Amino acid sequence: NTFHEMGLNEQILQAIDGLGYTNPTPIQQQAIPQILSSEQDLIALAQTGTGKTASFGLPILEKLSVESRTVQAIILCPTRELCLQIAKDLESYSKHLGNVMIQAVYGGADALKQINGLKKNPQIVVGTPGRTLDLIKRGALKINHVDWVVLDEADEMLNMGFREDIDAILESTPEEKQTLLFSATMPKEVRRIASEYMHKPIEISM
Ligand code: AMP
Repeated sequence: NTFHEMGLNEQILQAIDGLGYTNPTPIQQQAIPQILSSEQDLIALAQTGTGKTASFGLPILEKLSVESRTVQAIILCPTRELCLQIAKDLESYSKHLGNVMIQAVYGGADALKQINGLKKNPQIVVGTPGRTLDLIKRGALKINHVDWVVLDEADEMLNMGFREDIDAILESTPEEKQTLLFSATMPKEVRRIASEYMHKPIEISM
């Protein structure tokens, strides 16, 4: 099983080859074909370091519209560091795709700079829940047309007290979308988010 057999386009494959990824990791082998072929919600039990960023990032990049300049995917994660790492990874996966713009939004940094970034109409926003909600409330970020919501490290986000922010953010997304939830553990709080906001999710784990 290789990346070249997964139905990813040439530009993405070229980027992956350039990064030296030879074979998909176990989570990528399960998640990538699933997300490429179906709009069903997905819960993935996955630790950090397993290649989960590419497992949601590659199929989203494959399916998004480069021409459309609305926010098509919102990726929520617990920390500024992870936010920047995800944005950087997605930039490297999309570097041959043309006009894909990714904006990271996180607390403890100048909001105006991030607002200016959002004015350039990124297709993907990667954010920590607090700053993401703040920018939605200010009218700087509109996620009412997203096709994908990714909750990365969902257990960590809930541990850090982001539950109400996540609720409010999910409330401002459209009914019709695909929700992808990644978590290292599945405590009750993560189950609650899944049962409240996801529709018949498939579950994968390694
Ligand atoms: P992640 O779990 O997404 O943080 O990824 C962990 C690390 O593995 C990152 O440095 C990725 O660049 C790298 N990585 C992801 N997928 C692959 C792959 N299929 N082959 C080799 N390295 C990978």
